[in-house]
Amino acid sequence: MTQVPFLDLQQLHSEIRDSLEAAARRVLDSNHFILGPEVEAFEMEFAQYCGVGHCVGVGNGLDALHLLLRAHEVGPGDEVLVPSNTFIATWLAVSQCGATPVPVEPLAQTYNINPDALAAALTPRTRAIIPVHLYGQPADMDPINAFAQRHGLVVIEDAAQSHGALYKGRRAGGLGDSAATSFYPGKNLGALGDGGAVLTNDASIAGKVRLLRNYGSRVKYEHPSIGYNTRLDEMQAAFLRVKLGFLDSWNFQRRELASRYTTQLLDSGLGLPWVPDWATPAWHLYVVRSPRRDALRAHLEKHGIHTIVHYPTPPHRQACYPEYSHLSLSLTETLASEVLSLPFFPALTEQQLQQVVTAITLFGHADQRP
Ligand SMILES: *Cc1c(COP(=O)(O)O)cnc(C)c1O
Repeated sequence: MTQVPFLDLQQLHSEIRDSLEAAARRVLDSNHFILGPEVEAFEMEFAQYCGVGHCVGVGNGLDALHLLLRAHEVGPGDEVLVPSNTFIATWLAVSQCGATPVPVEPLAQTYNINPDALAAALTPRTRAIIPVHLYGQPADMDPINAFAQRHGLVVIEDAAQSHGALYKGRRAGGLGDSAATSFYPGKNLGALGDGGAVLTNDASIAGKVRLLRNYGSRVKYEHPSIGYNTRLDEMQAAFLRVKLGFLDSWNFQRRELASRYTTQLLDSGLGLPWVPDWATPAWHLYVVRSPRRDALRAHLEKHGIHTIVHYPTPPHRQACYPEYSHLSLSLTETLASEVLSLPFFPALTEQQLQQVVTAITLFGHADQRP
C-alpha cells in the first residue's frame, strides 16, 4: 500500500536542493556565522514581504513572542489575553515574562480568538492581546484592534502559521502593533533548523528586540540591559532567503490543494475549514472536524494515510498549568477532541489527495452500516 505522509519536506527540498547547497557554501566560504550579511539581508527582504518597517531575526518563534512581550514591557502583575485554542508557545511566552495568560475562547467557525469574548476577559491588569492566525487563517483583526485601542492594550500577532496570509488585502505580521513568527521547518516558510523573527513598524520595539536577542548588547561588551542569546544564524537566514522566493508559489499550491480537498469532501459529513470573505489563508494546515475523530484517524492510518492532531490537549489542560485545570472551556475542549489535520504540503500529488479522499469516503460508508 502506498503511504501518504502528513508532510513531505524531502520532496519540497529536492526541488530547490541546488540553491540550498549554494546558500550553505556561501555561508561556509564567508566564514561569518552569527549576525552577518545573510541575517541582515533576510530581515530586509522579509520585512518588505510582510509590508512592515522592521524585521529582527531571532532563534525561534517562542523567543520571538517572549522578547516582544519584554520589549513592550509586559511583566509580573500583567495579564495577557491569549486564545485558549492555540499551540502552547503562545501561553509559554507570557508565562516566561512573569505575566499571566488569560484564555479567550475561539469562534466555532474559524477556530480563531472570538473578538466578542474579549470584553468578558478584560481586567484592570490586562496589558496585551495575542491573536494567533491558527492553521494559517487570519484572526479577525479589525474588531481586535478596535477593542485594544479602546482599552489601551498592545496587540501582538502570533504569525507562526500564517506566512503570506492576507487579511482584507494586508499581510499577516503587519496587522497589529508587532508580530512574532517562527521558521520551524514544518511552517510555510521553514528553515532547516530553528528560527524565528519579530516584525513591527515601531523602530523602538525593533531596537529593543535587537538588544534583547544579543545579550542586551549593541556595542560588543557593553550591556545596557539583561538580555538573552537567541539569534537567527547566518546559515538559516541564507536558507530562508532561498525559500522566501518560493513562498508565494507554495502558498498558491496550498490554496489549490485546500480547494481540491474542500470540493471533494463536501459530502463526507466532516466539518470542513470555513473561510470568511475577507480572508486569504496561508493554509498552513488543512483541518477537518469529526466527533468520531479517533476512529477516523485509526481508519486512515490503516490505509497508509498519516494524520496529526493540532492539538490534542489545550494549554489549560496541560500539567504545567495546574492553576487553570478547574476551567471549563467547552468549545476549545470539543475542538481538541474533534480536529484532524490531513496530509498537506505543496508537493502533495493529485494521486495522494485522491487516496485520502477515497479512504475518508470508505470510512463514511462503513459508518452508515447498521
Ligand atoms: C510553531 C509555533 C510557535 C513557536 O514557534 P517555535 O519556532 O517552534 O518556537 C508559536 N506559536 C504558534 C501558533 C506556532 O504554531
